Amino acid sequence: MFTMSKFWEKVFYALSFIFQGSSYLSPYGYGAMHRLHHAHADTERDPHSPKYDDNIWKMMWKTKTVYNDILYKKVKLEEKYLKDLPHWPWLEKIADNWASRLGWSAFYIGFYVIFATEWWMFLLLPIHFVMGPFHGAIINWFAHKIGYVNFKVKDTSKNFLPLDFLMLGESYHNNHHKFGGRANFGYRWFEIDPVYPFIKLFNALRIIRLRKSANPTTAF
Ligand SMILES: [Zn+2]
Ligand SMILES: [Zn+2]
Repeated sequence: MFTMSKFWEKVFYALSFIFQGSSYLSPYGYGAMHRLHHAHADTERDPHSPKYDDNIWKMMWKTKTVYNDILYKKVKLEEKYLKDLPHWPWLEKIADNWASRLGWSAFYIGFYVIFATEWWMFLLLPIHFVMGPFHGAIINWFAHKIGYVNFKVKDTSKNFLPLDFLMLGESYHNNHHKFGGRANFGYRWFEIDPVYPFIKLFNALRIIRLRKSANPTTAF
């Protein structure tokens, strides 16, 4: 839906590492896997589909395996799934390993030790440790199972939350499967995508360049 310069690509790659920390997912690995998901949603080639796994844990395990196979080039994907994806092997080496994940986790624990004022706050720590997969599981499982549909599509995608500020707009998943290249994931008047204003801001600041096709039909 947009392009950016190699410089900004590197900036956002590094920011992914800093903000995802212990649950870092490679933009390269996730990008290729996500293209597979769109191309083959709810078929046997879909990396994660609730239709093919009995429970959320099995689906997440399969997702992890496919993701690692792509990132470490154990599978050969057609060029169309890899084309133009950002790739920074040097950063992957630092970010995608257990020393880094444990280091970030220790940092989060240290932060809580210094700043938490009640004991129960420590119960939130596990969510910090696995924030990436936690978010992925909610969208990839529930937004293909529960919710309402704006558009008839070939897959099981649903709009999981009608007012989605928790998943930052990603749970308008049926809209997203219908218009994969559309920057605004919301479609109906009440579907407010909280990330869209930032995409527009980055576009205005020339950090990214939105494609014309990123904004098809806005009325419902
Ligand atoms: Zn999906
Ligand atoms: Zn997508």
